[in-house]
Amino acid sequence: MKDTYIHDSLSGRKVLFEPIRDGKLSLYCCGPTVYSDPHIGNFRPVVVFDQLVRYFKAIGYETTYVSNYTDVDDKIINRAKELGISEAELSEGVIAEFARLVKEVGSQIPDITPRPTLMMGEIIDYVKRLVEKGYAYEADGDVYFRVRKVREYGALSGNTIEHLESGARIEPTSKKEDPLDFALWKKTEEGIKWDSPWGKGRPGWHTECCVMIDSIFRSQGGFIDIHGGGFDLKFPHHENERAQSFAQNGNGLAHYWMHNGFIDIRNEKMSKSLGNVVLMKDVVKKYGGKAFRLMVLSTHYRSPLSYSEEKMEEAKAKLDSLLSTAKKAEIAISLSDGEMPSADPSTSALLDRLSDDLDTPNALSLLYEEQKKVNQAIRLASRDLGGLVESYRKFASSLALLSLKGSTFALSSDDKNLFMSYNEAKQAKDYARSDALRAELMARGLL
Ligand SMILES: [Zn+2]
Repeated sequence: MKDTYIHDSLSGRKVLFEPIRDGKLSLYCCGPTVYSDPHIGNFRPVVVFDQLVRYFKAIGYETTYVSNYTDVDDKIINRAKELGISEAELSEGVIAEFARLVKEVGSQIPDITPRPTLMMGEIIDYVKRLVEKGYAYEADGDVYFRVRKVREYGALSGNTIEHLESGARIEPTSKKEDPLDFALWKKTEEGIKWDSPWGKGRPGWHTECCVMIDSIFRSQGGFIDIHGGGFDLKFPHHENERAQSFAQNGNGLAHYWMHNGFIDIRNEKMSKSLGNVVLMKDVVKKYGGKAFRLMVLSTHYRSPLSYSEEKMEEAKAKLDSLLSTAKKAEIAISLSDGEMPSADPSTSALLDRLSDDLDTPNALSLLYEEQKKVNQAIRLASRDLGGLVESYRKFASSLALLSLKGSTFALSSDDKNLFMSYNEAKQAKDYARSDALRAELMARGLL
């Protein structure tokens, strides 16, 4: 199998990927909290980690891709109250919309999309075990995790215990033993709650992801190959996930940690208070989901991505041009009556570029080079066009930008005749006739 290098946030280096189990990849990516319409920031990891999984599949791995929906959260409770509906009703609606948009951007729905509300028994058990092991304690209906008991704390984010101690102060009202401790279970008066050994309450976010990994990947000791998510989740979320896994299973939850950079709006942080939140449904409606995908892939996943309408216009123009090349090639092949044989080209060159820490900008430049070759072959009516366009389509479909086969562009015999007449008129320099035929071809969407 092809050697793959990834940037591991834990070691802070680009490393050779070595799977826990030969030929298998287990990947978990933190999904959205489902309380309102998804914004573009939610969709960078949706594109990036989908692309990573596609890559691993393409080089022969059997992949298990898990991404959760966080459907227990204060934000969900508050929003449901505002709308006068149940939390379940609210999150169901947001999840359906999210899944629709995932498909729009050309990403696959992950193999498993767990939700905390459907795993409450396992979550309570997990917290119970941490209490029994002495890593967690109950305080007036809440349960907290003893951060100081985990030696490895801070290794992922650099926020070590010594580092955190300097700024830590215990609030007079806090029920914690130590200001560094974080909540695994919260006593709740309002909103949805579950019965537990500590009274009615609900779980903390950091525990939810841990339990899903622990439960889905039990056969490998709750330890996975890659844990992914946005850069902003590194601390405290991922650090706290790791701490619980050390306490529970004696491992750091994942062999490698990969984080994607932020999306900002013209170099300004996207936030509700600034009123600059861009909703994914609006972007999809205006430019199409694949144009968004192309925009995301045009920047390396670890770099910050500054969103702007100009950037989307540019991505849309590029995507249109990719489509148009495919269409023109299909037409030329269709007109050539078998004179342009197809081939079965390899995607190896493209995968080579992706094998270097998912270098999608570099993979895209290879696709654009292929596009140039195809355009040239169309101009020259070259016999090589059949093979070139296969390779081009394969590259574009590896990035989920074009489908593998362009059957929609197959010409009817009527279309073919029209093209033939058009070409004859052009050769004969009969401009009036060629213009009229050209208009007809354009009206049929063939030019
Ligand atoms: Zn998470």
